[in-house]
Amino acid sequence: MVENSTEKTLNLDFNWKTIEEKWGKRWTEHKIFESECDLNKKKYFLTVAYPYPNSPQHVGHGRTYTLADVHARYKRMKNYNVLFPMGFHYTGTPIVSMSQRIKSSDSELIETFRQIYKIPDEMIASFKEPKKIASYFHEEIKQGMKEMGYSIDWRREFTTIDKGYSKLISWQFRNLRKNGLIVQGSHPVGWCPQDQSPVSQHDTVGDIEPELIEYDLVKFKFEDYIIPTATLRPETVFGVTNLWVNPDIQYVIALVNNEKWIITKEAASKLEYLNLSVSVVSEIKGSELVGKFVFNQLRNAHVPVFPASFVDPNNGTGIVMSVPAHAPYDYQAMIDLRKDDDTIKKYGIKVDIKPINLIQTDKFPSNNSSPAERILAQYLISNQNDPKLEEATNKLYSEEFHAGKVLPGIEIIGNLSVLKAREIIREKIINEKIGTTMYELKNVVKCRCGTPCVVKLLTNQWFINYGDKNWKKLAYELVDNMEILPEEIRQEFKNVIDWLKERACARKSGLGTRLPWDNEWIIESLSDSVIYMAYYPLSKYISNDANLQKSTDKVLADDLNDAFFDYVLLGKNDMNVVARDSKISTELLERIKNEFLYFYPVDSRHSGRDLIPNHLTFFIFNHTAIFPKDKWPKQIVVNGSVLMEGKKMSKSLGNIIPLRQAIEEYGADPIRLTMLASSEILQDSDFSFDLIKGIRSKLYDIYRTVIAHKNIFTITQNSLDHDELEDDWISSRIQRIVLETTSAIEKFRIREALHNILYLMDNDLQWYQKRKLAKKKSVCNNFLKEFLITRIKLLAPFAPFFSEEVWEIIGNKPFVSFESWPEVNDSKISLNSEDNEKLIQDMIFDIQKITKVTKIAPQKIMIYTASTTKNKLYKKLLDRIQKESTANFGIIMKELVNDDEIKDFVKRSPDLVRKMIEDVLSESVDVRERRIKIDSFSEMIPLQDGISLLRNEIGNDKLEVRIYSEDDSDIYDPKQKSRFSRPYKPAIYIE
Ligand SMILES: [Zn+2]
Repeated sequence: MVENSTEKTLNLDFNWKTIEEKWGKRWTEHKIFESECDLNKKKYFLTVAYPYPNSPQHVGHGRTYTLADVHARYKRMKNYNVLFPMGFHYTGTPIVSMSQRIKSSDSELIETFRQIYKIPDEMIASFKEPKKIASYFHEEIKQGMKEMGYSIDWRREFTTIDKGYSKLISWQFRNLRKNGLIVQGSHPVGWCPQDQSPVSQHDTVGDIEPELIEYDLVKFKFEDYIIPTATLRPETVFGVTNLWVNPDIQYVIALVNNEKWIITKEAASKLEYLNLSVSVVSEIKGSELVGKFVFNQLRNAHVPVFPASFVDPNNGTGIVMSVPAHAPYDYQAMIDLRKDDDTIKKYGIKVDIKPINLIQTDKFPSNNSSPAERILAQYLISNQNDPKLEEATNKLYSEEFHAGKVLPGIEIIGNLSVLKAREIIREKIINEKIGTTMYELKNVVKCRCGTPCVVKLLTNQWFINYGDKNWKKLAYELVDNMEILPEEIRQEFKNVIDWLKERACARKSGLGTRLPWDNEWIIESLSDSVIYMAYYPLSKYISNDANLQKSTDKVLADDLNDAFFDYVLLGKNDMNVVARDSKISTELLERIKNEFLYFYPVDSRHSGRDLIPNHLTFFIFNHTAIFPKDKWPKQIVVNGSVLMEGKKMSKSLGNIIPLRQAIEEYGADPIRLTMLASSEILQDSDFSFDLIKGIRSKLYDIYRTVIAHKNIFTITQNSLDHDELEDDWISSRIQRIVLETTSAIEKFRIREALHNILYLMDNDLQWYQKRKLAKKKSVCNNFLKEFLITRIKLLAPFAPFFSEEVWEIIGNKPFVSFESWPEVNDSKISLNSEDNEKLIQDMIFDIQKITKVTKIAPQKIMIYTASTTKNKLYKKLLDRIQKESTANFGIIMKELVNDDEIKDFVKRSPDLVRKMIEDVLSESVDVRERRIKIDSFSEMIPLQDGISLLRNEIGNDKLEVRIYSEDDSDIYDPKQKSRFSRPYKPAIYIE
């Protein structure tokens, strides 16, 4: 698969692997990414969510890290002292459960390791030991990061099971507890019945966060049985006309807390996890319930049980209450049943129910038809299997929830808002024991061990109380005061802060730090990863190995205590006492503290978008709980994920490409650019091999240009070439590209930045070369030199290996990684030059168009520029449109016909005036402003200058070109073309 053919045909001596190894080695040797505390330099501390070493990285993992690395490299070139460190997250159950799967010879996992990741068998065998897995993939990932060119300070690396790290986490938890943010109690959590352990995103197949749904169970009475129905809208119990049962399902009769309940098998097992005492007594077929009447205890009414196929045994109790007036599903099922004569006959039932209206809103005022009926009509739904039903249901639900009011005639809750009514009914059914609460999972989630997850009501579990109102306020304050990129994602953070509640923070199994006050619990992975960025400035001073001889610049992890962290991280306690207790010199203690104070807070945190609902928001919460405001993080950057050739990456599609394998085949820089160039940051980027090849050949183009003009970098030219129009232009373009690329990077519009560097700069270079060639002049000049140097610098954060190599070839000392980012020189930006070249481009384009249509080989070309009067008029239009910012043709004309200077022309040629107004409007505000400022723009000069190129492009170097002003007395204009000329739009005549 290695594509060396391109390189060969181009006769390029370019070998990615050699270059990557060469520069990787030099960076390490020169320790250029090792950052020290340096009070004379402004710092920039940037972190990325550290990886879980339970599999090698594939191409999809690389995007976030590559973005962060580009960010780090860019800031370094902006002269910041950048700290970009990395750790490895061993905490939790994934690694342990993976080793269990190896122990039980899980063939799927073993094959993945063998086939996709090419791990040797004896290594796989060693994975029965969890730490072997972690350390193997740790090294694998680290190697991949080095091969990708990430500019990481590896001295600060740690794992989350290091003793020193655990000391920090213990400190964090004692602090949270002291602040009243740790609570013990009963709360529902996602749960793996196999592992007997709570699960969150990192524990599940496909990294899915379990989402809990809270139902109210409303109990209906049937003989001496209870039929509980799950609902999200208990207030609608007054509108129940019937129950729906699935006639094809086998239900069970179960003794639940000493009542006889009729529910599905699935519900019985779910209720057990919610700590109800459940024992199944017998079975009953759904069809046996059809036609029976049940008693609605709240409304004091009997309602029938009807059959419906939409009732899902996995949902709730498998029997649902029917509120046809307000639930589109129920309404549609009622309509369908009325028409279903076979079923009606089969069960001998009479479907004479009528929807009971309960709630009204502005959009659905009370009238004879029900809201459900009306919304079904809006969505053109006509049967209960229509997928649009879901959407219609959500729409009506949300409308009634936010704006609904209960009708006056309804007992207990009449005239109340839906919100209030729900609260009252909920309380009533719980108090009077005619209902209870039931939790289940909203989504299908499987634990990594393969077991389907459930909701468990955990008792005596430790929770972090993200539901604390004051804490939420602080989290809000931080979100409001930090930069979030892209900005559109800010609201998502606020939503998460709103709905977060207590979260289980400890497990009985897995790797990690034990809960300091309750040793049977281990702090789970999304709780020990929220303030660890504070450990990076410290980690290189901490030695985890007590056997190592104690050195003067290390503190033993064993000697760390809370007082140490209080002192270093929060500035509390007495220096001498802390130094004595941690058995280090006061001098070392001060060094550690100063390093922390220098680098903290985090200036930027990078992560994938999927971590907003947990990690990133916990990171925000915990910083506000532990640290003072001046240590709160400054920025979060969030990116989308990576698709492979337009598809989600998955084992089943066989499209997972290990990162290191891709580097081997395509080179690190082309991969980096491909990850970033295909989409803006929040979108999913599409990794494709065509794109990677295209990008790689762009890099080869740049390389070739540099090689071809190598001498300009070595010979110092005393003076510039004669300053020609195109020189001013390329000089201006360089500045403009720098300006626009810099502002794109600052806002993380990386795709745009790369587009400028790779494509727009290419267009500019081609035009410049063409202009020079036509004049038979060399491009080997200082302008090209500046262009190429600027381009390499702009490219350096994105394609570091390539840029270093080229930088060296053109005779510079390493490292381009530490060159200053190009500064914009405003004085070189010349819109005038841009107008010049645009005029030439347009002229050549227009002439080529004409010759193509008329198929004449031109011998003579006449170009006519606009008259003085037209130029005067044009300026008036510019003024007028810029000032008033409106462009009503009629009003402008009225003004113009009263203007003595131009009124004759305006009356004679209203169509031309209209065209000129359109010309002005089509220009950007910048261009308009500049054109207002200049006294006169001579089109003659650039047009004259462009003749040589015109001749080249037409392919006739004898071509006669004459340029006239419309006003010239000796004008040659046999077809009176000159009268069509407009400012910046000369007229053309070809013979
Ligand atoms: Zn499990």
